[in-house]
Amino acid sequence: RLAEYTAERDLPAVTRDGVPIELLMNAGLLIDLPHLEETNAAGIGLFRTEFQFMVGSTLPRHTAQRDLYAKVLDTAGDRPVVFRTLDIGGDKPVPFLPRFEEENPVMGWRAIRIALDRPALLRHQVRALLAAGEGRVVRLMFPMVSDVAEFRAARAIVDKEVRRLEARGRPQPVRVEVGSMLEVPALAWQLPALLRETDFISIGTNDLLQFFYACDRSNGRLADRYDLLCPAVLNFLREIVHACDAVGVPVTVCGEMGGRPLEALALLGVGVRRLSVSAAAIGPIKRMIRSVDLGQVSTFLASLGDTTDHSLRPVLRAYAHDHDV
Ligand code: PEP
Ligand code: MG
Repeated sequence: RLAEYTAERDLPAVTRDGVPIELLMNAGLLIDLPHLEETNAAGIGLFRTEFQFMVGSTLPRHTAQRDLYAKVLDTAGDRPVVFRTLDIGGDKPVPFLPRFEEENPVMGWRAIRIALDRPALLRHQVRALLAAGEGRVVRLMFPMVSDVAEFRAARAIVDKEVRRLEARGRPQPVRVEVGSMLEVPALAWQLPALLRETDFISIGTNDLLQFFYACDRSNGRLADRYDLLCPAVLNFLREIVHACDAVGVPVTVCGEMGGRPLEALALLGVGVRRLSVSAAAIGPIKRMIRSVDLGQVSTFLASLGDTTDHSLRPVLRAYAHDHDV
């Protein structure tokens, strides 16, 4: 799959009307890293740190965590890497945490909820990230943030670790950027406040849209029931992106939605300019970006504003077909 796009590796991700799109890669294990070079992605927009915790039977030691993060940063070189702090629990069980029977684990004790209840776990991980990032920029973000207070509490743990290094005169990152994932719908209604405190936003459409629709993302029976390409979703995403743009806070879409060409086309049309997708999707998405006139597609999508169709997929597909996208 990747080989098919080798010839386009060095072409820029720029639309036909000259708008540059930042096309980043999702990763989580060492075996993903060579794809950064192969695809020539602009960086890693989502590094899922929980994978290292899910494969072992014990909590990874400080040195193991630090070494993994340092290798990722070494490989990325000048390209940015966003480490997501542990998104464990729920559907991602780990052997070293007690397992509870939860009726709805995906809406249960997971991600930042565990981090705030067990701050030592987050502190441990943050120390490893800061150590790996000595002399470089460290970017990290929290998963499943539901309100500003949670973000603030988690960020305070990071800030405290940075101050601890300063106080001890230890080597530090040149800068630490702290971001929030937006994957719980409630957070969208605290955006103005969140945008004053976060350095960036990353929209996790996988979780965001399953909660938006109250529709389990892993339930095969419902797989075709709701379409991400419906007016409500696109209007929602447009509002989020506009709010971020208005105050100059970078926003990325890092869910699987961005890795599918027609969905990515719609994302560009509602204002998204940064996508983080799987390595295999970089080639197809770049090809789509290079074939599209963004001004035209934005106008087209805006003209559909009041549609109450169940899905805009048919009209978008026809648009893509008619415009050689
Ligand atoms: C998401 O929810 O869109 C996301 C990127 O996180 P994950 O798929 O790891 O839950
Ligand atoms: Mg998620």
